[in-house]
Amino acid sequence: MIRTQGLSTRFMVSGIVVLSVLITVVISLITSYRSEKNSLISMSFQMNSMYASKIAGTVNELFISEKSSMKANAEQVAKHWAQPEMDELTAYIKRSNSMFNTIIVIDKDGIMRSISPEMSPPLMGKKITSQGTLQALKERKPLISEPYISAANALVVLVSHPVYDAKGEYLGFIGGTIRLHESNLLNAILGQQAGEGGGVGASAGASAGTSASAIASAGASAGTSASTSSNASTGNGSYSYVVSSTGALLYHPDKSRIGQHVLENPIFSDLAAGRSGTKRITNTLGVDMLASYSYIEETGWGIVSQTPTSIVLEDAKRPMVHIATYVVSIMLVILIAIYWLIGRMSQPLTKLAQYAVMLSTTKSLQADVPRIHTWNREANALHRAFVMAFSRIRTQLDHLSLEAQTDALTGLNNRRTMDKYIGTWLQREIPFTIMLLDLDHFKQVNDNYGHEKGDEVLKFLASSMRALFEENHICCRYGGEEFVVLLPEADEGEALRYASQLRRFMAETNSPVGRPVTLSIGIARYPDIAQDAEMLFRSADEALYRAKHLGRNRIESASNAVVVS
Ligand code: GH3
Ligand code: MG
Ligand code: MG
Repeated sequence: MIRTQGLSTRFMVSGIVVLSVLITVVISLITSYRSEKNSLISMSFQMNSMYASKIAGTVNELFISEKSSMKANAEQVAKHWAQPEMDELTAYIKRSNSMFNTIIVIDKDGIMRSISPEMSPPLMGKKITSQGTLQALKERKPLISEPYISAANALVVLVSHPVYDAKGEYLGFIGGTIRLHESNLLNAILGQQAGEGGGVGASAGASAGTSASAIASAGASAGTSASTSSNASTGNGSYSYVVSSTGALLYHPDKSRIGQHVLENPIFSDLAAGRSGTKRITNTLGVDMLASYSYIEETGWGIVSQTPTSIVLEDAKRPMVHIATYVVSIMLVILIAIYWLIGRMSQPLTKLAQYAVMLSTTKSLQADVPRIHTWNREANALHRAFVMAFSRIRTQLDHLSLEAQTDALTGLNNRRTMDKYIGTWLQREIPFTIMLLDLDHFKQVNDNYGHEKGDEVLKFLASSMRALFEENHICCRYGGEEFVVLLPEADEGEALRYASQLRRFMAETNSPVGRPVTLSIGIARYPDIAQDAEMLFRSADEALYRAKHLGRNRIESASNAVVVS
């Protein structure tokens, strides 16, 4: 494999595919996550709203009915103001009413006239000065108090009704206390959210649907609801709390917080103004919450139901992870297929590129353009262009190398080619005979017939040489009107035979000027006469000079051998 710089088509196209698919997947995941998130948030708000308003409605109804039953109780108490019957009555009221932890009757002087059940230490006959009592005695009208610490040292809310005798004289009041830290109907209702657990939808929907039965069964469950009301938060982190008109917590799954004020909570200002709604807030623990709240008309309280935003968002993330896993696995399969396909598609180009690189590195044009089989139009066009370009280049190179090796006028080997042969043979110590030819009085030919005719005579001699000499004889134009023939392995006798034939042919045949133009020849043999090219040429030249000197149209050998012409 030839290493070249840059990225392969296969890698680049695969990269582009991966990138574009990834971007598409990420964008679609982000989009669907956002819409999933928004719909989950609004669903969470809705579920919490449904729950809060249902509970608010339930509590409202409860207090309306409690108010009227408290009124009826007050009438009964007025009738039985005498002590023994009073205790029986309060005990009866307590038994038949699961809303309150304690039923008390206090006279206008603040003395406890009756209590059920009795406290320890007993409060019967004692003067009560708790905040709720003082307010009820002062206002002498139906009341729901703010939370306060009772005479029995418990945080309570007092629901009271004034008692007047038949003549309309104020006797005192009857009241029911709801101990906020203990089991009572209120936290039995609110505690339902914990009992029905599950997601926001499950808890909110189910709670809303069953809260009526919660009230119905509250009487029975009041005693046992401590376990549920102690933690009203559900599995998804949702929980609800009740806040009084002055911002005191009346109910909270974290019991230690009951009685605390939440005036800084932005929801409280809405509730204080009698408004219901939804808000995304940060609770006292710094947790981001999706809260819905409902105002309770009858009591002036507010119920808040809220779910941690992070849990809702976690629900939005989960399907995204599933989708991402699914998409990524499908994408992987598609990518492998694409990678393979691109490999197939780019294979012809890769082959051509490797071929081109190989040509440039080996400096050879011998290897054929690789065969390719593809249905890719561009690759086919490129391949065709490659084949055509290389055949043309090869032809031109062949032509160039021929030009570099031969003499333009005669087509015989030039002097450079001759030197190459001689160099090789000397190096390999191959014996050979050199024949130096020179036309006689050629200057006169030129002078008499013109230079062009002279050229034709040179060509005539060349074709005569080609016709006479064998294929392994190297015929060269040495320069001007001088020629050389190299006869490898030939001895002097053989060389003389060829020289004689040529001399005779030239002497007996009319040249292009219309008469024969003779030549003289000098012969020398390697290694007999000389050991190097220079000596050999000098020897052949001397022989030629002798031939000229002795009258031309003759052959002389450096070894002075007898020449048979
Ligand atoms: P000799 O060799 O017999 O002594 O006499 P010569 O007239 O041939 O003498 P010489 O070798 O000195 O002259 C060579 C002449 O060949 C001179 C030049 O005009 C001619 N000549 C050399 N090259 C070419 C060529 O390419 N074409 C033509 N037409 N004439 C050439
Ligand atoms: Mg000459
Ligand atoms: Mg000459």
